[in-house]
Amino acid sequence: MLQLFLPLNFLGFVYREIKRALADISRMFQLLDVEPAIADAPDAVPLAVSQPAVRFDRVSFGYRSDRPILRDVSFEIPAGRKIAVVGASGAGKSTLARLLFRFYDVDAGAITVDGTDIREVTQDSLRAAIGVVPQDTVLFNETIEYNIRYGRPEADRVAVERVARLAHLDAFIAALPEGYDTMVGERGLKLSGGEKQRIAIARTMLKDPAILIFDEATSSLDSHAERAILDAMRDVAADRTTLVIAHRLSTVVDADEIVVLDHGRVVERGRHAALLAVDGRYASMWQLQRQAQQQQV
Ligand code: ATP
Repeated sequence: MLQLFLPLNFLGFVYREIKRALADISRMFQLLDVEPAIADAPDAVPLAVSQPAVRFDRVSFGYRSDRPILRDVSFEIPAGRKIAVVGASGAGKSTLARLLFRFYDVDAGAITVDGTDIREVTQDSLRAAIGVVPQDTVLFNETIEYNIRYGRPEADRVAVERVARLAHLDAFIAALPEGYDTMVGERGLKLSGGEKQRIAIARTMLKDPAILIFDEATSSLDSHAERAILDAMRDVAADRTTLVIAHRLSTVVDADEIVVLDHGRVVERGRHAALLAVDGRYASMWQLQRQAQQQQV
């Protein structure tokens, strides 16, 4: 019996291994399918930006064809204005930013910058026009100056100081014993979440982008840090076309328009006061965040 069992058992093992290998290969192709390399069109031209208005025109998109993430989304950020996108986790907010940066192409509809479809321009020129302040900022075990200059390595000290002022970091840096030469990161000064994000703002401003995407950190900040970020954002976003992916509603109160996303659809839009008056989705999000803040105090 044992003589029969062992070969059969072995055959079963071989069968399972082959099945797993086939599944791995099929998963690999699925991955290749969902992460397509975006190529420049053969006749792509550099993006010329004079009035950097951004327009999402009936955009639909899914990372996989069987799971739509954005459905028929339209909104416009007029040149120099600030639009905030809010919505529950997974609603598709960051996906909008990834599409504008052209990590992926839309499945339907179009995204235009200054009237030009972003599929018609070179990716380098598109990405040069857009500055992204990410949720999580990577800091190097280097000086504050180095960490800010990383946004544009050839920038001089005057430029670094200018963006530090814009990001409301100047007083903080002046109070450090070694100022701009203070080492930060794991082996240096530990920066708070709010300070890190202001370093990210300063870094991005060195690029002087026509369009700014601000992907707000989800972590809650104390009211002092919150105020400092709000002030920094207000100053850098003034007269700059800005898309804020908002997690904290305090950031969106002064937006020119708030777009409320739900399961990839725009369900409400308008300014803060108007949306509160409607007493719909945005108003209930606002109430919930207010209650959560009051419980923290
Ligand atoms: P959050 O507020 O949590 O940051 P979000 O509104 O920004 O959420 P997105 O990051 O846009 O949400 O994600 C929308 C949906 O797309 C989510 O269900 C997410 O799981 C899915 N998703 C995001 N990135 C990918 C990816 N690279 N491949 C497949 N699905 C993805």
